[in-house]
Amino acid sequence: MAFEILVVGVGDAFSVQHYGTSFLLRKGDFVCGVDCPDLYRRALHMHAFPHQNDILDAQHLDALILTHLHGDHVNGLEMVAAYLRFVHHKKLKLYTSKEVIQDLWSRRLSVSLGTMWDGRGYQTLSVEDYFELIELPWQVPVQVGPWKVTTRRTVHHIPTMALKIEDGEHSFGHSCDTAYDPELIDWLAQNELFFHEANFGPAHTPIEKLQALPLEIREKLRLVHYSDVLDIAGLQGITPAFEGQRYLIGGDWADISEE
Ligand SMILES: [Zn+2]
Repeated sequence: MAFEILVVGVGDAFSVQHYGTSFLLRKGDFVCGVDCPDLYRRALHMHAFPHQNDILDAQHLDALILTHLHGDHVNGLEMVAAYLRFVHHKKLKLYTSKEVIQDLWSRRLSVSLGTMWDGRGYQTLSVEDYFELIELPWQVPVQVGPWKVTTRRTVHHIPTMALKIEDGEHSFGHSCDTAYDPELIDWLAQNELFFHEANFGPAHTPIEKLQALPLEIREKLRLVHYSDVLDIAGLQGITPAFEGQRYLIGGDWADISEE
């Protein structure tokens, strides 16, 4: 059985035209997010993906994979966690690396989510009040709902994971943030379809490197994490992903956005 990729955002850290790069995996009713940038729930509502007679929102996330701790991938998590706890009384099942687990609460979220005034006194909350944290060890497959998820560390400023997502029949890959890395691209090209970033600076991949890849690899590649200054309409040789798009991974993958 196939699974879907729902594209929530395709922008880079500085984009004013797009939401930050993130997407959802869906198989049956199971939904797993990948990353949680700024304005996360606004983006979901704008795309209005139908789900269980509703519009897909944060409370429908059965799991979330967090690739790394840069703000354009994690800035939305604080309020998603608060929204789930205080409005829906549920915890978010969060899958990430041991490096992110080490720092997520102590160096990022505890300052804002760790103390609550209950009308009489200050209550201390812990990471377990908001999340069920599950480690994704590097390069060891872990079952996340209906998928086997394998990580691979990328060349980036801080520990960052590329992903291979397999349901036993079909598979999808995601570079996440990375310098140009031909071995990573070969690993991603083992999948039926994969997302790859392009951006500026030594810790990202120049678009020209992707344009120079063999056709059979470029046919499986969809561009994400792109800059506002990149001429998407005039882009040669590479197909961008767009916000609100849906891909079906299974048999012949397809863009099913217009169905
Ligand atoms: Zn990054």
